[in-house]
Amino acid sequence: MTCAEFEDLLDRLEPGHALGAEARRHAGTCPRCAFALRLESTLVAAPSWMPRERMAAERRAFLLARARTRFWAAPDWSARLQESALSALVAVVLLGAGVFALPPLLKEVLPPSLYEAAAAAVSPLVGEVAPLFAPLAATGAGLALLVFCGYALCFAASLGASVYAEAGQG
Ligand SMILES: [Zn+2]
Repeated sequence: MTCAEFEDLLDRLEPGHALGAEARRHAGTCPRCAFALRLESTLVAAPSWMPRERMAAERRAFLLARARTRFWAAPDWSARLQESALSALVAVVLLGAGVFALPPLLKEVLPPSLYEAAAAAVSPLVGEVAPLFAPLAATGAGLALLVFCGYALCFAASLGASVYAEAGQG
């Protein structure tokens, strides 16, 4: 018996009737269906004056939890990957544009004294880091490799963020 068959049986079970032997066996081996059975028994045992909406809400919550379990068992990775790939592409283009556009922009926006101070603080760092990448950036293939690495980083970050956001909703 599958979980779907079990839940179908549970849904169609008349109050006061017991489950068949096969269904009880399934509940004995499947923690999720055992939980569903426990939930159902609790609801059936609830006083009759309790509003029926309560049962509907509980069942809905269970179904939602089950849907989430299914989502994680077989998530729609292709949509998520496409979305993350697009986000990464946009991020790399913006980063690339930012690297070239930022210094002139800062020079225009910041007061001269502040810009001088910032440049003095940043240039030793650039002086340390830039030579590491300069040989790579000098050749087309190296530059492509740098861009690809940036893309891979953005892609991983975007994918991680989307999975994290999804988990936060659940
Ligand atoms: Zn099951």
